[in-house]
Amino acid sequence: STFDPADGDRARDLDRLVLHSWSQHGSVNPFTVARGEGVKLWDHDGREYLDFSSQLVNTNIGHSHPRVVEAIQRQAAELATVAPATTNLRRGEAAERILSKIDAMAAVFFTNGGADAVENAIRMARVHTGRAKVLSHYRSYHGNTGAAVNATGDARRVGNEFATGHVHCFGPFLYRSEFWAETAEQECERALQHARRVIESEGPSTFAAILVESVPGTAGILLPPPGYLQGLRELADQHGIVLILDEVMAGFGRTGHWFAHQHDGVRPDLVTFAKGVNSGYVPVGGVIISEPILDTFRKRAIPGGLTYAGHPLAAASIVAAIDAMTDEGIVEHAAHLGADVLGPGLAELAERHAIIGEVRGRGAFWALDLVTDRGTREPVDASVIGRLKGLLMDRGYVPFAADNRLHVVPPLVMSDDDARTGLAILDDAFTALT
Ligand code: PLP
Repeated sequence: STFDPADGDRARDLDRLVLHSWSQHGSVNPFTVARGEGVKLWDHDGREYLDFSSQLVNTNIGHSHPRVVEAIQRQAAELATVAPATTNLRRGEAAERILSKIDAMAAVFFTNGGADAVENAIRMARVHTGRAKVLSHYRSYHGNTGAAVNATGDARRVGNEFATGHVHCFGPFLYRSEFWAETAEQECERALQHARRVIESEGPSTFAAILVESVPGTAGILLPPPGYLQGLRELADQHGIVLILDEVMAGFGRTGHWFAHQHDGVRPDLVTFAKGVNSGYVPVGGVIISEPILDTFRKRAIPGGLTYAGHPLAAASIVAAIDAMTDEGIVEHAAHLGADVLGPGLAELAERHAIIGEVRGRGAFWALDLVTDRGTREPVDASVIGRLKGLLMDRGYVPFAADNRLHVVPPLVMSDDDARTGLAILDDAFTALT
């Protein structure tokens, strides 16, 4: 296909008319994406890039997967939209596909994305328990709507604190422990004790939900130590609290399992999803609901809904994406990528570059925690991350960076060879950086 540099100029010019998320208006990102296919992107000059960001960690099956594109096209021609109260075959099939990948859950509530999935999960927990408070982690991101952004622990909460009933605690993170822990066992035990004390101090009977990401993603890909999620499950059971696991980023194969919590063998009451469920080809998210909570909504109506809930284009893309992931072994491939290519490759990079303080992750979900000094673990500052991003873009590598970290989060379909190319680019960029 043809690329026209003039389209790039025009895109940058028109971008002045767009106020971007989380941004001060004014600066224009020079990177204009003209096309995507698989793990590759092209700008309007025809320059090729390997996508190690999966955009916002959502294109799990890569860009323009033909089966999903075709399903959307077919659905658009057949029935492009329908009212949410209407019974629709595609919506039912999407729910069936989602429920087939998780044990012992009863139904799906569809939303437009991840934030409103979290919003509605919190609402369900509140209606189900008749209580208000929600405990979540400081190191977390749950989305940008009323309750979701107040449940968020990171800096994006600040400036948005208009919802009530949100309580935060520190989750486990051994490399930057809040608990003076030296082992994963200590970190787990002390984080659970901290969560328990916060709940006791706030009043256990005031909590509707404990809401955590199965693997905190934007916060740094913080794999929970063995037993942590199970410990939260027990805490929730003890006090009649609903356990909501946010799988918006970690779900649908990212960690090498369909859902990240399946590594931990824990049973959630509600699960939120979005992103990887259809790789974001059409905006969609939702809540997976267990039988006891569904039963609450047999007895009374759920006080909420959305015009586009279970949108046919979204539903068709979910069915096609999950079928493609199943038939092509994409989740198994993610597990292999992590265990055999990215895991060992990133560990080797850390041996060569002292700036890499810690490598953590699994599947296609990795973070490099960058430090000025391995002893003190002092995070690198924003200027270092800015320079690193530039060096990577110059080398045709699209990065995902957060705080002092580089997250290595390619589409799950990335070949071993492309992953090795990315590792070589990282090696080269780190050398150029220091
Ligand atoms: N929850 C988690 C764990 C996320 O990572 C995100 C987005 O990054 C969200 C919720 C919000 O999803 P959305 O941006 O689709 O509203």
